Amino acid sequence: MTLSLLARRDEVGLTDGMLLIDGKWRGATSGETWTHLHPATGEAIGDIAVAGPSDVDEAVQAARRAFDDGRWSNTRAGVRVKALHRYGDLLRDHADELRGLQALDNGVPLSFGPVYATSVGAAADAFDHHAGWIDKLGGQTLTPYQGGDHLAMTFREPIGVVAAILPWNGPFLLYAQKLAPALAAGCTVVLKPSEYATFCVLRMVELLAEAGIPDGVVNVVTGPGDPTGEALMTHPLVDKVSFTGSRGVGKRIVAASADTLKRVSLELGGKSPTLVFPDAPDIGLAAMTTMGTVTMGLSGQACVAHTRALVHRDVYDQFLGAAEMMAGAITYGDPFEASTLASPLINTKQLDHVMGLIARGKEQGARVVCGGERVEGDLAAGNFVRPTIFADVDNTMDIARQEVFGPVLAVIPFEHEDEAVAIANDTEYGLGAGLYTADARRAFRLARRLRAGTVGINGFQVEPHLPFGGFKQSGLGREGGQSAFEAYTELKTVLMPLTEELM
Ligand code: NAD
Repeated sequence: MTLSLLARRDEVGLTDGMLLIDGKWRGATSGETWTHLHPATGEAIGDIAVAGPSDVDEAVQAARRAFDDGRWSNTRAGVRVKALHRYGDLLRDHADELRGLQALDNGVPLSFGPVYATSVGAAADAFDHHAGWIDKLGGQTLTPYQGGDHLAMTFREPIGVVAAILPWNGPFLLYAQKLAPALAAGCTVVLKPSEYATFCVLRMVELLAEAGIPDGVVNVVTGPGDPTGEALMTHPLVDKVSFTGSRGVGKRIVAASADTLKRVSLELGGKSPTLVFPDAPDIGLAAMTTMGTVTMGLSGQACVAHTRALVHRDVYDQFLGAAEMMAGAITYGDPFEASTLASPLINTKQLDHVMGLIARGKEQGARVVCGGERVEGDLAAGNFVRPTIFADVDNTMDIARQEVFGPVLAVIPFEHEDEAVAIANDTEYGLGAGLYTADARRAFRLARRLRAGTVGINGFQVEPHLPFGGFKQSGLGREGGQSAFEAYTELKTVLMPLTEELM
């Protein structure tokens, strides 16, 4: 029977997406809307308002006023700490509802809910973590070069108005990894969710008022990159752009920020390698985990998916066998059914991109172990692609160099450690890397040599208190932990003579 998700809209309480400006929800001034087609069925699920330049201007002006009058940044630290903890608890209380909305947004199945990094729980933990920094935001008192008759000290001040632009694939944690440090630092925010994951983000935003965050501190503009994102990231009153998304848009943001020298944080794509040595504690588990990162839940539409498996020749066949078993276990279908393990590709453009790269892999001589085609039959209306393994991949092939963002694993054989490191680092990206070995010295030796922001030894995890971000073209700056929090502040130096004489 052909899948339909229209009945789910009422069950999870989906309403059309609106803008939030200074505490008031409304449509776009132009009345323009964008219709979200569900990736599993192609059905029209709901409309969102398309904020044009004048709407974006109103939202930025509201955030500016809220910043300048100090309604958030000047409240007592204890008030802000409690508000962020309360908000974390509210997210936990609404986790089921939020997961349902996400399933209607990006098609991520409810079965993926317990996977920590993309869960509502991780988002809630990010608010708890950053709340903890609020009363620890400090500077230094420094010894003056010119004698002890003046004081020199530093303060960390909130950076101002933040434009936070989100992707569609991990809306819970990625929302929290921007909003929590921005609010903890005392900034105000204009948030732009992805047009492909707006409904769950708007529900999270609604809960901010319940937690006691004042009107105007967080404003939301909905709509696609053009016109909404463009108007936001070029607005002269925005002090910082914090962006997670594709490398191309990231480069555009860096170029556009030059005009007013905005501060920029970027979390971009990846082509992350996993290195599997013959002494790995469990080759089968290494293969299933690696294949899992490109199939389970998001179908490989994850920035840190380990999409290049570099496997020692001694365990190459064993690895391929276990990875293929994992591919065979993946099920597609209704994201609300517990039996559904993975999602469709987000839209037909992404489907074409993935099928194009699969075709290139075949043309360039990689061996298809499994998959390589779309899912037909009852699911033909959705953007489903069978889990795909390419073996005997050469690192110069397009499937080894470009971000596929689909359920495709490229397996590359190696013989020596140095060769594996060279292949792993031969990429324009540098987001994540993994390695499987029982040799602790090798593990640390390689963890230092791999040019990536996060390296997992015999496993991989993303947590809100750990710095996360990319080397090379995978980004600028880090989310999570102290460095992320500090990236929402400016460092100010204050001097004061202790004598009547001028210095
Ligand atoms: P995308 O770049 O297409 O869109 C991201 C956001 O930018 C959306 O809100 C979109 O509307 C907006 N946007 C698009 N064009 C814009 C423009 N010209 N100006 C301003 N905003 C614009 O990316 P996506 O498809 O939503 O996400 C997938 C990408 O995100 C992948 O490359 C993935 O690797 C990356 N990603 C990175 C991380 C990380 O932490 N490093 C996490 C998740 C996703």
